Amino acid sequence: MTRQYRIASVPGDGIGPEVIAAGLEVLDAVASRDGGFSLAVDHYDWGSDRYRKHGAFMPADALAWLRTADAIYFGAVGDPNIPDHITLWGLRLPICQGLDQYANVRPTRILPGVTSPLRDAGPGDLDWMIIRENSEGEYAGQGGRTHRGLPEEVATETSIFTRRGVERIMRFAFETARSRPRRHLTVVTKSNAQRHGMVFWDEIAALVSHDYKDVTWDKELVDAMTMRMVRRPRSLDTVVATNLHADILSDLAAALAGSLGIAPTGNIDPERRSPSMFEPIHGSAFDITGKGIANPVGTFWTGAMMLEHLGEKAAADLLMRAVEQVCAAGILSPDLGGSATTQAVTKAVVEAVRGMN
Ligand code: ATP
Ligand code: MG
Repeated sequence: MTRQYRIASVPGDGIGPEVIAAGLEVLDAVASRDGGFSLAVDHYDWGSDRYRKHGAFMPADALAWLRTADAIYFGAVGDPNIPDHITLWGLRLPICQGLDQYANVRPTRILPGVTSPLRDAGPGDLDWMIIRENSEGEYAGQGGRTHRGLPEEVATETSIFTRRGVERIMRFAFETARSRPRRHLTVVTKSNAQRHGMVFWDEIAALVSHDYKDVTWDKELVDAMTMRMVRRPRSLDTVVATNLHADILSDLAAALAGSLGIAPTGNIDPERRSPSMFEPIHGSAFDITGKGIANPVGTFWTGAMMLEHLGEKAAADLLMRAVEQVCAAGILSPDLGGSATTQAVTKAVVEAVRGMN
């Protein structure tokens, strides 16, 4: 009996549909090659076009539809004519928060054939797993404005850190660090300047660490962390930070690894009460939409993370080996300095999957 997984595909806007189509093609090749599982894909055309026509990015019962899936494969949302905060709160955040995908994980490494802006850095010099708290913190949406438009106007944006929220992400981070060869965790805060929430983070890290004596850990302030990522990339392995801090650090990480176009992420519910959502970290990139040059590698890597989460580790490894083979052979899209189209990269990866031992 083959194992069957139901995938909810939400391609979204801009290059989202281009890279998700490429990703599904490659996943299909991996499933055929593996033979042990198959994917049944449900397509949802949610996004900015729907918002323009119906006034909502997704239907009211969207979460119920998503809950029928084993995993969600998400492209990108964003539209040059709709403010980003409306798009974000119209689709991605309601899904992440509604399904309580409280851990956002971002593996980062330099793929063979890809040039890092860090001088002399190659594969092995940078191998990180950045974990972002994905349910509260600075993006809790709390705050407001008074005296609008007047000289005495005040705007507040309140961060919320709960014991339950911080403890569960910390536990997930220590678990992740434990599962990686180096067993090292770096906890990032800004506890020298923010004396409530950030000191609370430090305290909970220390508390949770007692249950993980086999994991070494250290603390870093977020400003110092940006320097450390550039100057001493090898000193880092697993990293955990707040919603805002990790958002920023992971863009830096993606750039250091070569391009926004190759970076994947998973929005995970570690307790598996609801499906997790996997997406490339780049946005809708309207400047290159329709040109056929979007880099699909981030979406392939995203697909590999999704397979691993579904329990298909061998298939995930196979997919990543195929991607690495294609990158190493220099079949790269323009953002990586090559001239290959989305289709050419996809075809090369499909062929590599078919020819893989
Ligand atoms: P959004 O508003 O949805 O975040 P954006 O227009 O800000 O989208 P990003 O996707 O964040 O765009 O991308 C920033 C830059 O990186 C763009 O100039 C884009 O062309 C480039 N880029 C992003 N993703 C890719 C990709 N997959 N392949 C090639 N270039 C990319
Ligand atoms: Mg953007």
